[in-house]
Amino acid sequence: MLKIDLHLHSTFSDGVLSPAELVKCLKERKVVVAGLTDHDTTDGVDEFLTLCRKASIKSVAGVELSASFAGVLHILGYRFDTAAPALRNALVKNRNAREARNVLIFEKLRELGLDVCIEEAAAYAGGVIGRPHIARLLWNKGYVPNQKAAFDRYLKRGAAAYVPRQLLLPDECVSLIREAGGLPVLAHPRQTTPDLYDLPPVLRRLKDCGLWGLECWSQGNSPADVYHLLGIAADFGLFPTAGSDFHGGGHMSAAVGVIVGEDILPWGRLCGGL
Ligand SMILES: [Zn+2]
Ligand SMILES: [Zn+2]
Repeated sequence: MLKIDLHLHSTFSDGVLSPAELVKCLKERKVVVAGLTDHDTTDGVDEFLTLCRKASIKSVAGVELSASFAGVLHILGYRFDTAAPALRNALVKNRNAREARNVLIFEKLRELGLDVCIEEAAAYAGGVIGRPHIARLLWNKGYVPNQKAAFDRYLKRGAAAYVPRQLLLPDECVSLIREAGGLPVLAHPRQTTPDLYDLPPVLRRLKDCGLWGLECWSQGNSPADVYHLLGIAADFGLFPTAGSDFHGGGHMSAAVGVIVGEDILPWGRLCGGL
């Protein structure tokens, strides 16, 4: 058995810890393989990989892309060329769309009578401001009792200050990562299809575009879910991966590190060992 974590967020997206703090935390928790998968940016990757090397943690470049879908569909990319132009352009476009959306969210919040501005949220973000940073701001200013309430009342889909975002199609996310020489993986599949029996049609479409793996161990999955997901992954010829989706606090807190059997997970391939 070994402890790994291929789904981690830092302050470069909506995580609370910097890459350096994250690596320190991974070392303390005895994680031996790790991937940084910030939303729409690879700006923290070089530092993360360097620090992991120094700490003797095997590591892999990663990113997380949100795709347009009826629910949540996130594609993780691993071991790609961070300089690939098409992927880089798509990440810049996504970040710009996020910034434009943030402006509209703050307009709505102010219309609702909240005295907040975007610069205050920027203080919590290392890179692009995400909704978790806005939730933290609303909580710190006493507008909500906790960060989950900020999402429920203002920020989640359908809430008072929610603003939809222009997203790439799921197929585009998979293709972009493949074209950059990387390996695309469907993240936290239970968020995509809460009933796992609805997952196969989604996977069929993604597999046709080049999906490589399925995150079988993820936040909130029971042992029965993991067993079920491993079966689905095998049916589709997808590699199982594991990640906590660690953000380091707030409404999405999860412990860092997932324990997996060494024989099952192809972490050696991800980290270039095979
Ligand atoms: Zn996600
Ligand atoms: Zn994530």
